[in-house]
Amino acid sequence: MASHILLEVHLQIAPYLSASEGHFIGDMAVYRLRARFPDIKHVIFHIDTYDDEAENYCQVLPNRVEISRCLFAILDRYDATELKIHRLGLHYHTDAIEIDLQLNQQDTVAYDLPHLQQQLNTELSKHAWFGHLNLLVRHIDSNNQVLK
Ligand SMILES: [Zn+2]
Repeated sequence: MASHILLEVHLQIAPYLSASEGHFIGDMAVYRLRARFPDIKHVIFHIDTYDDEAENYCQVLPNRVEISRCLFAILDRYDATELKIHRLGLHYHTDAIEIDLQLNQQDTVAYDLPHLQQQLNTELSKHAWFGHLNLLVRHIDSNNQVLK
């Protein structure tokens, strides 16, 4: 643009990386590019987990609200509504979504977790978009410290 060099970059990262790590990788790439090529004035970067110039998966895969609704309906059916979800990690692949469902250990005492995980996987498998569910438990001690 005029005498300025502007770049638009698509950085393809693994779908398991967090948004903050993806953005850090983008900032790092911009910093290194500009250190090596000082004529570059501005870089716009996308953090992509698939080739977003090839296809647009947002038209076929459900979003977080739709997936949460789906999970709560299953938990309700299995009488597990008091299980609070600590963290819901969604990993969008090109054809399927992998779900990390993290629960607090003290909420899970009354449950047979392997069985619950199996039930969730079975129910979610009815959806074409579903890949796999990982049930994770967050262990915290009486001082509310996360145990390593
Ligand atoms: Zn992109």
